[in-house]
Amino acid sequence: MSSVAVVTGGTRGIGEAISRALKDAGYTVAATYHGNVEKAEAFKAETGIHVYKWDVSHPEECVEGIARVEADLGPVDVLVNNAGITRDGMFHKMTWEQWREVLSTNLDSMFAMTRPVIEGMRERGHGRVINISSINGQKGQMGQANYSAAKAGVIGFTKALAQENARKGITVNAICPGYINTDMVAAMPEKVLESIISTIPAGRLGHPEEIGGLSVYLASDAAAFMTGAVLTINGAQYIAN
Ligand code: NDP
Repeated sequence: MSSVAVVTGGTRGIGEAISRALKDAGYTVAATYHGNVEKAEAFKAETGIHVYKWDVSHPEECVEGIARVEADLGPVDVLVNNAGITRDGMFHKMTWEQWREVLSTNLDSMFAMTRPVIEGMRERGHGRVINISSINGQKGQMGQANYSAAKAGVIGFTKALAQENARKGITVNAICPGYINTDMVAAMPEKVLESIISTIPAGRLGHPEEIGGLSVYLASDAAAFMTGAVLTINGAQYIAN
């Protein structure tokens, strides 16, 4: 029986690439989404990957969602906390709603999604948690005080959880992508995007598949001693260590 992997926001963008890569590596994948039913149904029809709809910022929905996945597919062995949003604006103009939406979707979701799977992983003595942070959680980004705070929080969460679970056969790592070619980046004004690309030594945006490949490695047995790591994948735009 193949291991079960849950990928939040797994039907689109980076999450879609992670779902596909894990499926190709032999995992039974459950990809979650939030509102884009059309995209999720098309993804399901094309890939045969199981899709589930719930809001990662709601703890009760996550508990119910994980219970559904486990009833359908079996215990969750790999959790990829990928779902995320932006609500950009300069902090002096930022609303409480912009702050809360980003913090709840990008950071509260770490609790809401990981809490329902971690005890089972501990009991079974095996698990992989992969958290998608961001270059902007490492370096901060003007216009993204909310997003930078949430993504930096993801890094702290990753390090603490890694220490708590290292003896239980569970690894917990964070991936910090730079600018990757997805809907999130396509939503940026063309001029802003051009100026960002000019600051990337690799001279291009990243491909979602490049995050997919790294996720497969982190999920594998080969990565058993890698835990608490913060992995930068950004075309040398920001060299963190
Ligand atoms: P997209 O906007 O392309 O996709 C976001 C995904 O998250 C969608 O599947 C969406 O579901 C899901 N989602 C959003 N809100 C919720 C919610 N409340 N509950 C459940 N699912 C939700 O994003 P990307 O693929 O670009 O980004 C994926 C992750 O990578 C995010 O955490 C992002 O912050 C991070 N990242 C992205 C970078 C980039 O350059 N693209 C750079 C660095 C980090 P639905 O399809 O239903 O809307």
